[in-house]
Amino acid sequence: MVAIKNQYVPRVNQIDVIALNTDITRLIRENILENLQAVFPNLSSKIQPELDLIVQTAIWIGSIGKCSSTFGQQLLVLSYDPERLTLSKLALHFCLTILPSYIKSIEERRLGANFNWLRNVIEWGESTVLTLSIFNFFRFLKTGRKPTLVDFLLGLDYISLRHNQRREIGYKYLTRELLWGGFMEILGLLLPLINFRKLQRQMNVLFKRRQKTDSIRSNFVGDIKPKVLPTTTCAYCDERPTLPHYMGCQHVYCYYCLAANICTDSKFCCVKCDKNESCDRFRML
Ligand SMILES: [Zn+2]
Ligand SMILES: [Zn+2]
Repeated sequence: MVAIKNQYVPRVNQIDVIALNTDITRLIRENILENLQAVFPNLSSKIQPELDLIVQTAIWIGSIGKCSSTFGQQLLVLSYDPERLTLSKLALHFCLTILPSYIKSIEERRLGANFNWLRNVIEWGESTVLTLSIFNFFRFLKTGRKPTLVDFLLGLDYISLRHNQRREIGYKYLTRELLWGGFMEILGLLLPLINFRKLQRQMNVLFKRRQKTDSIRSNFVGDIKPKVLPTTTCAYCDERPTLPHYMGCQHVYCYYCLAANICTDSKFCCVKCDKNESCDRFRML
């Protein structure tokens, strides 16, 4: 199928492309780097600039190198004008978009005090690029073409692959987003209302785990008053107990942890040993 080329691309779409590109790169990069950090914590922090370079190169090859369009452009059915995207411009595009961030992270992580001149050069370069980008943005607002500085330097225009000048909005994603947002709100509202401890106790009763715990319980004859040592923690919240209380077993609870649990479930059992005392029998230590 021959794609229909349309030279007009609304400015807002071109700005969206830049935002989408940034977000997509950030998402992929963070996911990969976080996973690597978990598997090889020491190695990945040492070679992070190289990992960054590899990830960004892979994204660049998979998008511009392969289809002459960034992922952001593909989402909005746009592309770079393939007639203008020659091999030398492709190479320059790679150098101008990927390599500066690599050099910057090398400078931040590895260069010592001897390389102050390089640091100054990079700072100067950054300020220049920033200033030129601002001028370029005003030029873009006026002309509606070449939104980034790199696009302007290489003379690359965006084209629409759809012969339709209207701004297309992906309602499919919008609806999904709305549904998901609604679902998350319901979850946020309902989850705090569910007493998971009570449900767990009822499940235990259902599956007859009580038989096992009864035998444990029989070992604790009478009222064992636990001692509060400097290392003692609340059996429920695992913090130093506030107003230590107990419910007949050897485990210590904060007053609030115990009172709140008994308030919501009168048959509340000790979370450590399953001992169950009636609600009016929790005592202060
Ligand atoms: Zn507590
Ligand atoms: Zn206990």
